[in-house]
Amino acid sequence: MTGPSLHVGIDVGGTKCLGVALDAEGNLLREDRRPTPRGTGSVDRLIDTLVELAGSLGQYDSLGVGVPGLVTREGVLRAAPNLDGVADFDVAGGLRARVDTRVRVDNDATCAALAEWRLGAGRGSNDMILVTLGTGIGGGVVAGGALQRGHNGFAGEFGHMVIDPYGPPCVCGRRGCWERYASGSGLARLAREAAVGRRVSRVLDLADGDPEAVRGEHVQKAAREGDRDALAVIDEFGKWVALGLVNLTNALDPDVFVLGGGLAVGADLYLEPIQRWFGELIYSPDLRTHPRVAFAYWNERAGAVGAALLDQLDE
Ligand SMILES: [Zn+2]
Repeated sequence: MTGPSLHVGIDVGGTKCLGVALDAEGNLLREDRRPTPRGTGSVDRLIDTLVELAGSLGQYDSLGVGVPGLVTREGVLRAAPNLDGVADFDVAGGLRARVDTRVRVDNDATCAALAEWRLGAGRGSNDMILVTLGTGIGGGVVAGGALQRGHNGFAGEFGHMVIDPYGPPCVCGRRGCWERYASGSGLARLAREAAVGRRVSRVLDLADGDPEAVRGEHVQKAAREGDRDALAVIDEFGKWVALGLVNLTNALDPDVFVLGGGLAVGADLYLEPIQRWFGELIYSPDLRTHPRVAFAYWNERAGAVGAALLDQLDE
């Protein structure tokens, strides 16, 4: 090997693949992106895309890839609702047949947790939980100073913790999953319900008067203008987020929650209600140190940076 070592990480998203190159100290040297292949033959074309994108970032010593969905510890993508035509796809095997370097494949949110733990908002923690609040909810767990994958490799699917078995249907086929309430789409749903109930008139104005067109951004914008109805929706949303964080705390007792995903851009709006509701809902609040709630450092780059760091972990 010549020159300093280079570690490439790629985050495979529903629409684009983002690649980064890190040096051995974790400095971000380069990044590049490609559209994620869709439709027939997308599996083979995805491998082509990953190989080509990695090559565009320089001569690398390891390649890590984060993929959305259920990924086994061997790097096989069992199910990926956001990548059409992809099921039971051996991503790691497909890449190893094509590149002459170390390859690791893991779940994208697990990669994001690794990035925030080693180089981001969870640095120094031994017990960190990352929760990504986007269209759905993903996550990752660091417990006792180690990244947790679980028996199958499927740990951290917090979005599908059922918090109301009679609640609204979820993409996973069950009802009342946490992500139906506490994600970006959950926030929009809470706002639409308020709009149908003839509240949130400012939110409705921002959505051109159509309750079905209400999105999370409209609620955030109205709340920033000080609209009381929008702030009430944010408060209710904060309660749902806190309820899931309380459940995770009862299970794992972390010292920090790192919140990432698309909703982290509204961090300043959510932090107070989340912390207040957490205090209301947690079991024996006076007998514990409450976990810190931090917002992600890496945002949309977290998955790619964490994928590049996979090579540092023990198998
Ligand atoms: Zn679900």
